[in-house]
This record gives sequence, C-alpha cells and structure tokens, in this order.
Amino acid sequence: AVATGAFAILFIMIAFWLSWRPDQDADDEFVAAIRKGEFIPYYQPVMDIETGGLRGCEVLIRWRRADGTIVSPGQFMQYAETSGHIFEMTRQIMRTTILEVGALYQANPDLKLSVNLFAGHFEDRRIIEDLIEIYGNSPIAYSQIVLEVTERQPLRDMNVARKIIAEMQSLGIRVALDDAGTGHGGLAYLQKLGIDIIKIDKMFVDALGSDASSAPIVDMLVELAGNLGMGIIAEGVETMEQIGRLRELGVTSAQGYIFAPPLPGHLYVQLAEALTSG
Ligand code: C2E
Ligand code: CA
Ligand code: CA
Ligand code: CA
Repeated sequence: AVATGAFAILFIMIAFWLSWRPDQDADDEFVAAIRKGEFIPYYQPVMDIETGGLRGCEVLIRWRRADGTIVSPGQFMQYAETSGHIFEMTRQIMRTTILEVGALYQANPDLKLSVNLFAGHFEDRRIIEDLIEIYGNSPIAYSQIVLEVTERQPLRDMNVARKIIAEMQSLGIRVALDDAGTGHGGLAYLQKLGIDIIKIDKMFVDALGSDASSAPIVDMLVELAGNLGMGIIAEGVETMEQIGRLRELGVTSAQGYIFAPPLPGHLYVQLAEALTSG
C-alpha cells in the first residue's frame, strides 16, 4: 500500500511538472519579450473618404521578435490577456507612440490616435493612472486620443466601466465602440457606456455590395450615430465599391487595406507628412 501511495505521488508530481513546465517556459519567453521591448505599435491610417485627407490612425500591436519576424496579435493576445501581461504591454506601446509619432501629432493637432483596450482595462482605475502618466504633458494631447472598447468581450461590471469611461472623457479623451454590431452589448452599450464613436465591423462592410441585407444595418448604425451625436468609422474597407456604398450611406471615415495596412511608425509618419499641411 505504501509503495502504491508513493507511486501515485510520484506520478502526480511528474504529471504536474509536465503540464506546468512548458507554460512556465512560454511565460518566461513572453516576459523576456516585454522586457526587451519586442511588443511595438503599428499604425493603420484612418481616412476621410469625402476629402481623401488623413484623420489619424488606429494603433495595432505587433510582436517583433529578435530575428525580425513580425507576429500578429491573433497569435498572442489571448495569452497576453489571461496572463495579465496585457497591462504592461499596453503601457509600452502607448509610451512608444509618443516617441514615434509625438512630433507629428504636435504639429497636426487634428490627427487622432486610436488605442485598443481590452475588457479588463474597464474594471479598475489603473488605466486612468497609466493614461495620465503617459499622455499627460506629452506631445500627444488627450483631445487627440481615442480608446477602443470592443463589443466582442463582455464587460464584468457596466457601472464600473461607465465610471472609468467618464473619467477618460473628463480628461478630454474619446471612447469608441469597436466591432459594433457583433457582440455582447448590443445597442444598449452605446448609451449606457456613453460612447463617442461607433466603429462599424468589417463583417458589415464586407457584405456591402454583395449582400443587400447588410446595407440596412450600416444605415441604422449611421442614423443612430447621427441621432446620438456620435462619430462613425467603417473598418476593413477593401474595395472601391465599398467606399462608394459607404459614402451613399453617409459614412465619412474609414480604414482598410484599400488605403493602407497597419504600418511601422516611420512609414506612417512619412505618409502623414505627405497628406497633412502641418
Ligand atoms: P481590431 O481592433 O478589430 O483591428 C482591426 C484588425 O483588422 C487589425 O488586425 C487590422 O490589421 C485588420 N485590418 C485592417 N484593415 C483590414 C482590411 O481591409 N482587411 C482585413 N482583412 N483586415 C484588415 P490585427 O492588427 O491583426 O489585430 C487583430 C485584433 O487584435 C484587433 O482587432 C484587436 O482586437 C486586437 N488588438 C490589436 N492590437 C491591440 C492592442 O494594442 N490591444 C488590444 N487590447 N487588442 C489589440
Ligand atoms: Ca480596434
Ligand atoms: Ca474592429
Ligand atoms: Ca506635412
């Protein structure tokens, strides 16, 4: 009986070691990547589709590995979020935006910079402290910053999220509902959270033109945004036909591969300097 017990304990220890070690290695690698500054911002231009002017950009995180490989967020964001490393990663990319595009934004006060947050950022005031520490007295004004809250993830406490959003807004920062029409909140989010800007998900933009049923959804989002005094941006625009349909529906801001993919900082600055007068 003693031998069996010892065997069982040994077995459990080995099983534990096997299941734990690889995760630990992966986490060590991730922490090292954060320490080495391998998580960096890319910038996707947001265009005014009436004038062809530049409105600003959306910041999209990338993992630039030591060998130069660029890894997309689909490969690591889930781990970043569940491990909690996302908080430090977000601070890092926000700090880097100041170094890379601070001068451009100071020279062009109308340019907007949109940063993605995840649901966990709307659970306590830590994000407010980070924003003040990073963007307070920086060349990028609060009035140039937009923070995106996705409708794909549920918010744990709507009242807490509402308060955090109100604090962001009292600084002069605006808040956008990302992936609108796809997720948890539905339209209740817009009013309850006090959203400033609606981002129309690519899913609806894709269907414009090919699928007549998506135009009424875009139409409704545009009307809603108008009635509630919110801005509106279309995501994932890939064709001229979609631009035409969006303009007919009254959407004036858009981003997508037809204009530009997410760009490294120096290329976004080059593009912006060519498109702006500042
Ligand atoms: P998202 O916020 O909806 O970002 C838009 C995604 O669509 C980006 O993918 C962008 O590269 C891609 N995209 C833009 N235009 C087009 C287009 O015309 N066609 C197609 N097919 N795709 C287009 P990306 O950069 O891989 O990011 C994926 C998601 O990862 C983001 O979706 C966002 O949810 C998340 N993410 C990215 N950066 C951050 C970050 O810094 N923080 C947080 N919390 N999440 C982030
Ligand atoms: Ca986004
Ligand atoms: Ca989106
Ligand atoms: Ca210029």
